[in-house]
Amino acid sequence: MIKRGDKDIHEFAFASAIYQTALKTALRYKAIKITEVFLEIGELTLIVPDLLRQSFKMATTGTIAEGANLHIEMTPGEIVCNKCGKYSTISLSESDALAGIQLFKCKHCESTDTSISKGKKANVKNIKIETED
Ligand SMILES: [Zn+2]
Repeated sequence: MIKRGDKDIHEFAFASAIYQTALKTALRYKAIKITEVFLEIGELTLIVPDLLRQSFKMATTGTIAEGANLHIEMTPGEIVCNKCGKYSTISLSESDALAGIQLFKCKHCESTDTSISKGKKANVKNIKIETED
């Protein structure tokens, strides 16, 4: 079980990484402000969107991304079965994400001997910025 306190740190680490990525792009275009950030987040990152929004707000206070809108698109997770070799799509509820569930069952043979093949990544897809002129 992941405690709530650890959970907040998990989202905060992601929020900081997202900010760093967005900032790098923004600086390349000489932005004075980041107004929107578009994210694609795998469900198996166990990221809770509401917590991520809060963390992002905290992480960006006093920066050029302060007040930026976060657009979060969740992408489903996928596992591959080590027993039958088939793929299953998995979806987590918010309570599963908060509980930090790590064990997934194959939908074809019910084996729990599975590996995650998709859904453990978070990407910054796009950002919107304002420039000096
Ligand atoms: Zn299987």
